[in-house]
Amino acid sequence: MATLQQVDIGPQYLDEKEEEILKKIKARKQELGDKLLILGHHYQQEATFQFADMTGDSLKLAKYAAASRDKQYIVFCGVHFMAESADILTTDKQTVVLPDLRAGCPMADMADIEGVKWSWSELDKILDSNTIIPVTYVNSSAKIKAFVGEKGGSVCTSSNAERVLTWALEKGEKVFFFPDEHLGRNSAFALGIPDDEVVLWERGKLLGGNTEDQLKKAKVILWNGYCSVHMQFTEEHVRMWRQKDPEIKVIVHPECRFEVVRAADKYGSTEVIINTVSESPTGSHWAVGTEINLVNRLHKRHPDKEVHSLSPFQCLCSTMYRIKPAYLLWVLDNLAEGHVVNQITVDSETAKLAKIALDRMLEI
Ligand code: SF4
Repeated sequence: MATLQQVDIGPQYLDEKEEEILKKIKARKQELGDKLLILGHHYQQEATFQFADMTGDSLKLAKYAAASRDKQYIVFCGVHFMAESADILTTDKQTVVLPDLRAGCPMADMADIEGVKWSWSELDKILDSNTIIPVTYVNSSAKIKAFVGEKGGSVCTSSNAERVLTWALEKGEKVFFFPDEHLGRNSAFALGIPDDEVVLWERGKLLGGNTEDQLKKAKVILWNGYCSVHMQFTEEHVRMWRQKDPEIKVIVHPECRFEVVRAADKYGSTEVIINTVSESPTGSHWAVGTEINLVNRLHKRHPDKEVHSLSPFQCLCSTMYRIKPAYLLWVLDNLAEGHVVNQITVDSETAKLAKIALDRMLEI
């Protein structure tokens, strides 16, 4: 996988008025017609999100990409790992483009392939690593997915993490879960795995900072990655809302800390959050613990309900936020003129192994 750097797109895009940019995007979309598919993740800012042909969370978007064999260009308004998954699941004739290469996921970057391989070899010193099943959250690089595929493990998402963990614990004795500690811990708790059988693997420390006995006893070993957006929600925010509004219902994403998830009324993936709020009766009050662009959209779409962010501070994903309309226009202008910029490609060996891990998840 070539590491590309985002180029400066120049003042003709960056200094242009937003309304002009939006008009030009509309025209380019029409010009590119059926050749083009724009995918938009729920965490995108509205100005970009409005141009998406299909919207969803990372799993839904990956499935849309896989099903859109007739589209030559797939422009992914999301982050790097999502565009990689789209490239893995599409054909060699299709081109996946990420409008701004700085749109990464800090949590995915917390599990780097060298660190994961080193940790695996550390574990192998004291355990039979054949009995360990690796599971990676979809928010991870193609290299990590490939490693997991090769070692007999699976990808999971926030909506099927409990099912995938159950499968992995039937297949092996232990699970090594990457990269989100919180999704892993919340899922292990939901399955009734006792606290002392869940340990944290601290990156870079010998045996992940654990004793041999702790690791031998553990059923689930959690990589200590986290999402800085969801980490900003606290138990105190839940208390504050309950004091302020006795009718409030709290719903959070499972990337939130354990105590926040326990204090909430409900937790679930982005899709679960959207469906729960949308299907709730008129007049419902919600405090939502996830990225602010999604919360604002829910607020706008449901004027008959009260929808607030769980936190009084702006919890936005600054890397997702990078896909600004100017960058979308820049890639569309180039595609219309026959140039591909910001193409995301995964090499064939990595793609083959990563696809095994993705396909396993779909089978489970
Ligand atoms: S919200 Fe968190 S997990 Fe999602 S892309 Fe942003 S940093 Fe990554």
